[in-house]
Amino acid sequence: MKNKEARNRRQAFLHNDDNVSKMDSSLHSELAMTLKPKSDKDGNMHSIQLHDGRSCTYQIRESIRARRIRLRLSSREGMVVIIPKGMSTRKDDLEVLIRNKSSWISRHLNRFRSREHSHPSPEMPKLPEFLDFQSIREQWFITYATSPEENDSLVRIRETGPKTLHMTNGLAHPTASVVALQQWVRQRAGRLLPSWLNQISDELALPFSKVTIRNQRSRWGSCTRGKNISLNCKLLFLPRQWTRYVLIHELCHTRIMNHGPEFWTLVRRYEPQAKQIREAMRLAWQELPAWLTTAARNN
Ligand SMILES: [Zn+2]
Repeated sequence: MKNKEARNRRQAFLHNDDNVSKMDSSLHSELAMTLKPKSDKDGNMHSIQLHDGRSCTYQIRESIRARRIRLRLSSREGMVVIIPKGMSTRKDDLEVLIRNKSSWISRHLNRFRSREHSHPSPEMPKLPEFLDFQSIREQWFITYATSPEENDSLVRIRETGPKTLHMTNGLAHPTASVVALQQWVRQRAGRLLPSWLNQISDELALPFSKVTIRNQRSRWGSCTRGKNISLNCKLLFLPRQWTRYVLIHELCHTRIMNHGPEFWTLVRRYEPQAKQIREAMRLAWQELPAWLTTAARNN
């Protein structure tokens, strides 16, 4: 019974895979791939030779959650073949699977390799493992994985749990990942900073017209004559008191536009530490994570 079920699932997978990999099937005859178990201390490392002659190792792992056989590639673990727990698998089946996905594997391995060999540059900052929003006392953890689907290289980010983000295809596309992360931070700031500004505005009886959240490169905030305030989403990464000071500073501009002595007297009435905070904030830009301050463009 169990075996039959496993066989059905296996066939379902292979059938499925035929649909997905139609373009690859013509390549089968050209691919000189061999699957040979490699002796390893846990006996779970295998080696396969790809059609470009490159030898690639992979692990086989059982998963309770997996409903079908899947391939997973990551820069940390390399290739992992995930098999539903209890499913009996034949080496031939795995060979078919890997053969069908060979162009996808090759493409991702090339990306990982070029990442390893490239030097860090402003265009390719290190991607973060967590976001530390000191201002609002929130920490978000980020996990990364490559999509198991053929032809899916779209970078996307989603919330997968409390304070947990998951990024798909991020490691292979650092620039697009940085853009996605910056957009997400801006979105998060958009949900939190306006209500905080409203609250302080009410507290201090300094009304404003409108608030916009941006990702400016050199300003924490600004205020127009029309009392429109704009705030930098990077404020989330600063200590709470500093961000509060910026909100107070911009709200004080609704009454006094310049930075004259009267303005500072007003600011200090609401934040006595204003001078010290302002001084400390001069260095704050340098301490922000590189992926946040890079001017990434997604082409
Ligand atoms: Zn100002």
